[in-house]
Parts: sequence; C-alpha cells; structure tokens
Amino acid sequence: MTGPAKITSKTEVEEFLSKYDDFLFDCDGVLWQGDVLLPHVKETLNLLREKGKRLIFVTNNSTKSRKAYTKKFSKLGIEVTPEEIFGSAYSAAVYLKKVVKFPADKKVLVLGESGIEEELASEGIQFVGGTDPALRRDIQPEDYDEIVPDPSIGCVLSGLDLHINYLKLSMALINLQVPETLFLATNIDSTYPTHGKLFPGAGTICAPLVLASKRQPISLGKPSKAMMDCVKAKFEFVPARTCMVGDRLDTDIRFGQDGGLGTLFVLTGVNTESDILAENAETVPKHYMTKLGDIFELLN
Ligand code: PLP
Ligand code: CA
Repeated sequence: MTGPAKITSKTEVEEFLSKYDDFLFDCDGVLWQGDVLLPHVKETLNLLREKGKRLIFVTNNSTKSRKAYTKKFSKLGIEVTPEEIFGSAYSAAVYLKKVVKFPADKKVLVLGESGIEEELASEGIQFVGGTDPALRRDIQPEDYDEIVPDPSIGCVLSGLDLHINYLKLSMALINLQVPETLFLATNIDSTYPTHGKLFPGAGTICAPLVLASKRQPISLGKPSKAMMDCVKAKFEFVPARTCMVGDRLDTDIRFGQDGGLGTLFVLTGVNTESDILAENAETVPKHYMTKLGDIFELLN
C-alpha cells in the first residue's frame, strides 16, 4: 500500500489542486484554533475561490448555528454565507425535518446549547430543554416523582451541553425508556481542543444515556453518512473531484473516505504526523501538509 502523499512543493500543490473542483473544510484545527486564525488561511481560501473552486465548511461543533458561525468567520476576516456552512446542529435539524419528518405536534428534548435551538427553530421544530434556565438546578429525591415521560416528546437530541446536570440526564433517560422516543446526537466526538487542552466533547454528554438506556444514538456529525447526505442535499458535487480537509482522522478523514472523497490532512489540530505514518494506522489520508496556509505559501 502506498503511504499518504506529503505536499511540500509548488509542483505538488499544483498537481493536488488540479485533482479537485470542490473542497469541504473542517473548521477548528484547519482554519483556526479556537479564536485564532491560522497563518495564511484567508489567503489560501481567497486563492482557491479565485481558481474557481467551491468551498464548503463542515463542523461538528453544535454549540453554534450556521448564522452564528457566519459571524465568527466574518470576525476573523473571512466572508462566507450561511449556505456554505454545515454544522452538526443544522444536520440534526435537517435530519429531523426531511428524513424523520418529525411531527409538528411533537417536541425534541435538547441537551445542548443555543446552536441546536436556533437550527431546530429554523426548521420549525418544537423543542424543550436546551438553554432553559429552569433546568439549571439540583434535584433531591423528593423531586423524583415529577420526572415522568412526556408524551409530547418524540426525540432526545444530545449535543455539547455546558450546563449538563442530573435533572437533564434524568429527564432524557426517562423519555428514552419509551421505545418510540428517537435518540439522536449532533456528534459523538470524545473530546475537542480548546485553550491548548482537550475538553470533554459532545460524546461525553450522551455517554451516560447510552450506558443507562442501553440504546445508541444516531449521530448526525462527521463521520456519519447523515451529515454527508445533508451536504449533498444542498450541493451537487462529484465525490472523486471533491476533497475533505481535516485535522482529525476519526471524524474528518473517515468522513471524506466513507463518502468517496479525496482527503487532505493537516497537522494543526488533533492528530499528528506519527498517527498517519504508524504501521498500524487505521485511517490514512490521501494527501497531507503541515498547515492549510502552505497552499498559499508554496504557490507564492
Ligand atoms: N465540538 C465542539 C463543542 C467544539 O467547540 C469543536 C471545536 O471548536 C468541535 C466539536 C470540533 O469542531 P470541528 O469539527 O470544526 O473541528
Ligand atoms: Ca477539527
């Protein structure tokens, strides 16, 4: 088997770019780290647009809606439209609306932040939980009788919830004990990097529910096919002429490979060069480079 091709010269960049018309970009760890734009990202995105490439941004971060993400891009000096952004919260909302055809009289119980609420609202889906301050409280055994299945809840949707507590987990579990209640997760990332450290990801919010309910959620984030279907529903692209760019092997690169896309791995995020060069490496990208901005730097 041939190893991944490291792109280190102008000729190699030119050859790489000639293979693809469309690019799907992971965001954190590729374009920026937290709130810091990575070097020459803006110039690289401009260069790709000038060459007529189509750019689509695909993030597992469920805490922000596409609208909020557009603002983040703009603050960092990159102009994008909400239509070019696919977040896992949006993917979950589209899945409920288009695939499940979630009934208008049912509600989603949300474990998550405003990104999920905004995307559900934009698809006209009712929800409870989420950022509701009434749920940010301790419960005592005398409160347990109040926690009962709610027949209006048709789905538990779990994302990253910065105010997760025993009350919310109990409400979710009681409703998941009704077999008809759908169990969805925006994404099941084990961790996410921020402030130079790895913090518990959205997968750690649904993990207690998986343990207690003995059910597995359908994940709508990378690397799920549902996320790819969501992108494909909006953009027509030829998989072999499309490249997924990411910093994480088990989400981004798997996502690209499962969808039949080319893959470009960059070393500015979660995984490292040794992860792909190891003899027992599970996921190996087609191409890799030190950072996305190398495209601009090598061509200039
Ligand atoms: N989940 C959360 C809560 C995050 O904050 C992030 C990154 O900021 C991610 C997931 C991973 O996002 P991406 O898919 O853009 O790397
Ligand atoms: Ca990433």
